[in-house]
Amino acid sequence: MALKVAVIGAGPAGYPAALAAARLGAEVTVFEKDLLGGVCLNSGCIPSKSLLDAAHRFDAVRDIARFCEDGAETQAQALLGQLSWPKIQARQLAVTRKLTGGIGVLFKQAKINVVPAAAAFKDAHTLTARTAEGTKEFSFDYIIIAAGSTAFVPPPFDKIRDKIYDNSNIFQIPRLPKRLAIIGGGVIGCEFASLMSSLNVEVSVVEMQPRLLPAMEESLSRLLAQKLQKKGVHLLTGKQAADVRLDGDRKIISLSDGTELEADDILVAIGRSCDLTDLHPENTGLAWNRKGLQGVNPQTMQVKDHIYAAGDVTGFSLLAHAATRQGEVAAHNICGQPQTYNNDLIPSAVYTSPELASVGLTRTQAQQRGLDVKVQKAFMLANGRALTQDAAEGFVEIISAKDSGKLLGVCLAAPNASEIISLFTVALEAGFTVQQLRNVVFPHPTVSEAVADALAR
Ligand SMILES: Cc1cc2nc3c(=O)[nH]c(=O)nc-3n(C[C@H](O)[C@H](O)[C@H](O)COP(=O)(O)OP(=O)(O)OC[C@H]3O[C@@H](n4cnc5c(N)ncnc54)[C@H](O)[C@@H]3O)c2cc1C
Repeated sequence: MALKVAVIGAGPAGYPAALAAARLGAEVTVFEKDLLGGVCLNSGCIPSKSLLDAAHRFDAVRDIARFCEDGAETQAQALLGQLSWPKIQARQLAVTRKLTGGIGVLFKQAKINVVPAAAAFKDAHTLTARTAEGTKEFSFDYIIIAAGSTAFVPPPFDKIRDKIYDNSNIFQIPRLPKRLAIIGGGVIGCEFASLMSSLNVEVSVVEMQPRLLPAMEESLSRLLAQKLQKKGVHLLTGKQAADVRLDGDRKIISLSDGTELEADDILVAIGRSCDLTDLHPENTGLAWNRKGLQGVNPQTMQVKDHIYAAGDVTGFSLLAHAATRQGEVAAHNICGQPQTYNNDLIPSAVYTSPELASVGLTRTQAQQRGLDVKVQKAFMLANGRALTQDAAEGFVEIISAKDSGKLLGVCLAAPNASEIISLFTVALEAGFTVQQLRNVVFPHPTVSEAVADALAR
């Protein structure tokens, strides 16, 4: 008899896990209380990249006049003034719908049973869910908890929760504000600062750490800060939002240095939070907190016995591709085809301009671990393709072990960095040395040639 596998959540962890388990012969039921595709497809990765793409097109219009006859600036300005936020939102929604619809088709083809309701543990082998036909019980042999995360809105902003936007509902903002205050200079905060400033919004970013993107290499964060400031973004790093008050439609934020910041809208992009209240994992002896479900094995994704977890709920890496890999690993392990997950080789990317990406160890992390490393760096200033794109402010930095020459990590700021980083992920996965990477021939002219340039140093 086929194994009965239940999957909680149809985000980038849950839906690939369900598909993998079904392909491996399991009888799969997916519980989704909201929309197929989870945060990633509906209010995360894809909507934000759709908005960023629109923003890039406005940047291109801003730039076009220098290739035109005199006087074209006025026409470009006029076009920029006609920006339609509803049309940008409509395109974003159309992209999302196409992708979420695709998941439904894949589920149907794989004969996956979808229960459009919130599931809750009754006991270790039974879930309950309130469906259109009433509350039903579902038994299972194995379960994958892929319940994701929700936007984290701490004090003082929680007291005006319905008057501010968070990193999930910002996509529904009905009109672009004149002034937007973004609280949090992490990846999501920076991407929104970049795109909103391109869409003519006056943006301020408040970040309590001394720099933007505190989790990334400092050189990347410095470069991005310069670029954002050039676009007119007001960066308030090393400051904390101490209080917030409303004054009519205006929001006034008191900062830790005693100054005030006034805005028409606020986006709180401080992070994500695990919330398993409605799943009742305590009914099967599982514990969780804001950071995630407790006791998940970081290699096998097993929590205990027949219970597995994947995605944001594990707290290992709040990224969609990490979620997908974790979901697939969980499904394979349940279905008797052992696989392991390696959090050290999860690439990360920031889709600003320039794009930033990294994988493996950064120079700082390697130094913190006391490793004897070699750092090879090349600047895009010497890269033909980057120059032709007026995008020569980036760099590639390659970290390797001094004794063995083994590649340890890479960070880069360059056009299409989010694509180029996969080259390094493959090299790291394969255990390449820098010499082996040096033997790779890159087409000319490409941004990737900067890799060969760095390794030649
Ligand atoms: C603005 C923004 C931009 C982002 N951009 C990127 C990016 O560019 N690249 C990237 O890699 N990551 C990005 N992320 C992060 C990415 O979206 C998440 O890491 C990813 O969605 C996590 O997938 P998941 O399946 O674990 O959880 P989710 O996508 O949160 O899905 C979990 C699903 O479980 C459902 N669920 C929860 N509890 C229950 C229950 N009891 N019963 C039934 N269903 C339940 C939820 O409704 C949800 O649909 C972004 C996030 C945000 C907010």
